[in-house]
Amino acid sequence: MRTAAVIAVTALTTGAGVATAGTVLASSQTSNPWYQGADASYAAVASTKASNAKPKNVILFVGDGMGISTVTAARILEGQLEGATGEENALSFEEFPNVALSKVYNVDSQVPDSAGTMTAMMTGVKTDIGVLGVDEGVVRGDCDSVAGTELTSWMMLAESAGKATGVVSTARLTHATPGGTYAISADRDWEDDGDLPEGCEDYEYGDIASQLLSFERYGDGFEVALGGGRRHFLTQDEGGNREDGRDLTAEWADRGDGWAYVDTASALDGVDLGATDHLLGLFASSHMSYEHDRVEEGADEPSLTEMTEVALEQLQDDKDGFALMVESGRIDHAHHEGNAYRALTETIELSNAVAKAVEMVDLSETMIVVTADHSHVFTIAGYPERGNDILGVGGEDSDGVPYTTLTYANGGEVAYGIVDGEVVRLDPSESDTSDPDYHQQVLVNTGQGAETHSGEDVAIYSVGAKAQLFNGVQEQNYIGVSIIESLGLDSVKTNVRSKSKSWSGSRGRH
Ligand SMILES: [Zn+2]
Repeated sequence: MRTAAVIAVTALTTGAGVATAGTVLASSQTSNPWYQGADASYAAVASTKASNAKPKNVILFVGDGMGISTVTAARILEGQLEGATGEENALSFEEFPNVALSKVYNVDSQVPDSAGTMTAMMTGVKTDIGVLGVDEGVVRGDCDSVAGTELTSWMMLAESAGKATGVVSTARLTHATPGGTYAISADRDWEDDGDLPEGCEDYEYGDIASQLLSFERYGDGFEVALGGGRRHFLTQDEGGNREDGRDLTAEWADRGDGWAYVDTASALDGVDLGATDHLLGLFASSHMSYEHDRVEEGADEPSLTEMTEVALEQLQDDKDGFALMVESGRIDHAHHEGNAYRALTETIELSNAVAKAVEMVDLSETMIVVTADHSHVFTIAGYPERGNDILGVGGEDSDGVPYTTLTYANGGEVAYGIVDGEVVRLDPSESDTSDPDYHQQVLVNTGQGAETHSGEDVAIYSVGAKAQLFNGVQEQNYIGVSIIESLGLDSVKTNVRSKSKSWSGSRGRH
């Protein structure tokens, strides 16, 4: 094991080259495996040339709710699943040469949600909590307040510029993060027409699912859209939620040659991408399965890595380049449930998807950015020894009752019970804390499923063309501005502010 090797080397060399004042750095120090490892990283970063070539392609990976503590714990879990101590492991994107911090608050909220944060990352403009593709002038839930607040996402700009566009998510494609790439909505919850409030039946942009199809107003429509959320695209007769009788999956497929719709992983495997220009895949009625359950239950759904691979195969042929957003949507959901195991295994799968993308693209013309929309109230505590099971017990409280290394500040797994008439914190070591279904203890009971987001900064990791832009502590909307400007999308003409009437039947650009 690496730890043992480090100790052995240190023991052999100590005394042989102790540095004294005025001497050069002792070889016992520079030959120390820790020094050597960091020296290799130093050389790699020092030799990184700033890439000032204009990126032709961009991929934004969003780990929904993937705060820094989540990344750390996932890195340890991944290492431990491979039989190592874990702490020294690195997720794929942790090898990227550029890192920045992102200030995630919404205009009207200290702790943000995914809609406001995704709007910031897609448009370069920070906005209110709960709204998509509109600025802070909007009133959440008021469709009449939308006019004049519309923003243009870099996905819309890329489509208008003739690039191939794609959106991938393990959440519903109508959910806040994927919705932030294409929708203009005064409320993130308007996922299908049945969600539109009274008086908004004729809302000019329509419900979010219908906007995935009307994305062709910016060009010729998404080249690839893969995720969950089928119910928002289907009529009630088909088991969906739509009240307007529209089957959006049929509308997509019926647009002509090259338009294809699939709803299982097996069908996705059978798609002839060479003959497909526009691929829609909706693999679950609501969100897709957690990666753990997908594998355990043998669900006929693709993994995030498989979807990323198909999306890149579909997008990479366009001579104008491509824009892709890939979301690991369920890190967030597992955290809301207080279930660290699934949050971390989702994060590991995101790391796999990023590795696949790095392997497939040409980094000299592609910018890859990996970040989170926000964090969660999730901590790594105690002084467990190196290599201790990250899902295990990390220490004991002042009464000698163990606590787990991973805990949440709030949520639904009540940590306290009454024993002999006294309120005491229950002993988690009496449960199998490594079980995938274990829910970590919480400090404040906000109810099951109601663990909250947190407001601290998240990290931005980047590699490829102009990736050095991501440095320093930045407002989250800096991501949107950097993508728009470095790809030269700020000079693209779009018709986003036109009224819907002039869009009808229009597939070209004004
Ligand atoms: Zn959330």
